[in-house]
Amino acid sequence: MADRSHIYLSVPHLGGAEESFVADVFRSGWLSSVGPHLDAFEVEVAERLGEGIHGLATSSGTAALHLLLRHLGVGPGDRVAVSTLTFAGSVFPIQYLGASPVFIDSEHASWNMDPQLVRQYLRDAAASNTLPKVLVLVHLYGQHADIDPIAAACREHGVILVEDAAESLGARYHDRETATTADYSILSFNGNKIITCTAGGMVIARDRSALDRMRKWANQAREPAVEYLHLELGYNYRLSNVLAAIGRAQLRLLDERVASRRAIAARYAQAFGDIPGVSLQPEAPWGMHTRWLSVIQWDPDLIRVRPIDIVHALRAQDIETRPVWRPMHTQPVFSDAPTVGGQVANHLYSSAICLPSSSSLSTTDQERVIEGIRGALANVLAKVT
Ligand SMILES: *Cc1c(COP(=O)(O)O)cnc(C)c1O
Repeated sequence: MADRSHIYLSVPHLGGAEESFVADVFRSGWLSSVGPHLDAFEVEVAERLGEGIHGLATSSGTAALHLLLRHLGVGPGDRVAVSTLTFAGSVFPIQYLGASPVFIDSEHASWNMDPQLVRQYLRDAAASNTLPKVLVLVHLYGQHADIDPIAAACREHGVILVEDAAESLGARYHDRETATTADYSILSFNGNKIITCTAGGMVIARDRSALDRMRKWANQAREPAVEYLHLELGYNYRLSNVLAAIGRAQLRLLDERVASRRAIAARYAQAFGDIPGVSLQPEAPWGMHTRWLSVIQWDPDLIRVRPIDIVHALRAQDIETRPVWRPMHTQPVFSDAPTVGGQVANHLYSSAICLPSSSSLSTTDQERVIEGIRGALANVLAKVT
């Protein structure tokens, strides 16, 4: 067999300027969690998102959400509603604070949280005096959720809305940028995301004083005093200046990266268009999907195969694919949490997989993926008939 490389799901894609930004850090000596790149990274991300937006750079997206939920007053006994079809990083911070998640199902148009279900859930929760304090809305795989009706329902019941935009940087909702469609949002710059600092995250808000309060907690809650004085509990959650330098170089490439990932998705759509029952995650009419990940779905009545079997078949060809996020309401660690719906997320989990989507994926490698998937599907189609 010819020498061939392993094809990963989503890898960092450097543009070349990262090294010179990092070299500048070494020249300047700012090798810690303070420094000019850190400040500039916050400003540049915020400017990219829009006027009046501010950012607080953190060591991860999970840390950003932890700080934010604490700022919003989430604590023991509280409920926080959150999408069930997501990564665990959306949920763990709820439990760090001693609060409990309530999982909400997806709708079919975008695979994000179902506004209809949210309205019903909040109405019922208000009636039984079990309203959540906060609702964390995830924008899955680069596609914005239909936030306006969800925001309206939250407003009606006094629930604070937070966007988990870890996967959607670069996406739009109508003409609004992701992470600016609620008062508070978080981003992630983890290595698998559309742009990366290798690891990192950000809290996004219009309220600058809220970010200052979280910035202090992220710096071990050090009081502005010479002696190490602490009046509150803190965390070591600040992003380092070196990683911020990488992030600044990456941010300049965001539009290019979105264009590449969308082109990859379009090629997949084209390549699988003739297979009955197979389609990509739909792009909902209200926004622009970045296609951070290309996800294909099949009609389980026509194609009887488990995602995991396809994943294994492709792995044997050195191609990494993944099932969609295992719904949080099926995770043993959250087995006590109440769930609103869940059938849509279960359905997607059992009939879809994430395909290699790196913006650096070559057309030759993508051809290999396409052949692999077509082969795996043809196999089961043949077995069924
Ligand atoms: C990646 C991710 C996070 C967590 O971000 P980290 O930077 O990895 O901590 C949170 N939510 C979602 C939906 C994610 O995909």
